[in-house]
Amino acid sequence: MNNAEMTTLIEKFPLLNDLIALKEVAWFNPATTSLAEGLPYVGLTGADVKEAHARLARFAPYLAKAFPETAATNGIIESELAAIPAMQKRLHAALGQEIYGKLWLKKDSHLPISGSIKARGGIYEVLTHAEKLATEAGLLNPEDDYSKLLSPEFREFFSRYSIAVGSTGNLGLSIGIMSARVGFRVTVHMSADAREWKKAKLRSHGVEVVEYAEDYGVAVEQGRKAAESDANCFFIDDENSRTLFLGYAVAGQRLKDQFAQRSITVDEQHPLFVYLPCGVGGGPGGVAFGLKIAFGDHVHCIFAEPTHSPCMLLGVHTGLHDAISVQEIGIDNLTAADGLAVGRASGFVGRAMQRLLDGFYTAEDQTLYNMLGWLAAEEDIRLEPSALAGMPGPQHVCANEAYQRMHGLSTEQLNNATHLVWATGGGMVPEAEMAQYLAKAR
Ligand SMILES: *Cc1c(COP(=O)(O)O)cnc(C)c1O
Repeated sequence: MNNAEMTTLIEKFPLLNDLIALKEVAWFNPATTSLAEGLPYVGLTGADVKEAHARLARFAPYLAKAFPETAATNGIIESELAAIPAMQKRLHAALGQEIYGKLWLKKDSHLPISGSIKARGGIYEVLTHAEKLATEAGLLNPEDDYSKLLSPEFREFFSRYSIAVGSTGNLGLSIGIMSARVGFRVTVHMSADAREWKKAKLRSHGVEVVEYAEDYGVAVEQGRKAAESDANCFFIDDENSRTLFLGYAVAGQRLKDQFAQRSITVDEQHPLFVYLPCGVGGGPGGVAFGLKIAFGDHVHCIFAEPTHSPCMLLGVHTGLHDAISVQEIGIDNLTAADGLAVGRASGFVGRAMQRLLDGFYTAEDQTLYNMLGWLAAEEDIRLEPSALAGMPGPQHVCANEAYQRMHGLSTEQLNNATHLVWATGGGMVPEAEMAQYLAKAR
């Protein structure tokens, strides 16, 4: 983008001034529609999500044996829901804005196998690919007990195929561990942000890790290239994959069931607000889609990004989607929230979901560290910095009367609200690394 184009863009979208100045901003989307109006643009339906549920149910007996930590839930990979009332008070005291309603945490940070939200999409896509190969080879039927995939014959079969992926860390962890367990040869292309312990963990599982000095975009491009030259290599495309997206979407109905168990009502008088940390967009986009399918217009989805990597806000706000990167407007994409260090958003997710997302905001790294410290102190829950991005969200919503008016939300409805912060990672962070995070909190 040359200077003249940049000036025109900023004139049209003055919010970019604050983005470029790395200020914390909130932008509530004036173009949201009902689910009924917005759904056709997604290009996927509730039936697709149902199919994903069914596939994961077929794999459950396999997963329960392949990863004994999932045996307790019979091979279903799902996270806990935790009320965090002490954190709710702490946020009020620290920032002066009351949070109306009740604050909850969705602990994807503690999902089995890879300790992040990527245990949803990443694992689902690897399993989908394995099922397709084995079915096409005549080795597997949907009626079979899938634990047969653990046999040496299947592992020999899968070893003829390989998988490649580009990642800032957590997607690589999920796809690497799952692929290696199935028996695939797997290569993870890691961006410079990726933490050392994630690379070491992958190598201990027999995964090939290729390191880059550049950011996520370069790691993905290199992964894509490496896979192109090998017909038996499947490249998992974090930027465009419908399969990943559907793996995440399963969270919607699962959450609805968890709410029902706890007698938490979500309806017109009891709105649900969900705050989702966003990197390239597949994780939060897929979860938001699943939430909309499960809760309809009673759920409000809001995306959170670091001030240094606001790629989805930039793409949706300008309507340019993946035709613009944060670097092009002078933002460096350097953040302690490594899971969110993405400069160019998924064009697929932005275009598919823009009508169904209520808003976007940014948070400084120091805000994430502070909230990381408060959550550890108040609730004894430890997360990685990316996973705190959702935490400032409830206060943005409760403070913004224009947004409340736009959606016709009354004081009573706000007092009945459930605010759910999606904690996307951190359960496997080594202690020494966690101590460094905690030391940065103020
Ligand atoms: C990947 C990731 C996200 C965001 O998911 P995207 O699909 O990249 O948008 C959020 N938090 C953590 C911890 C992650 O690893």
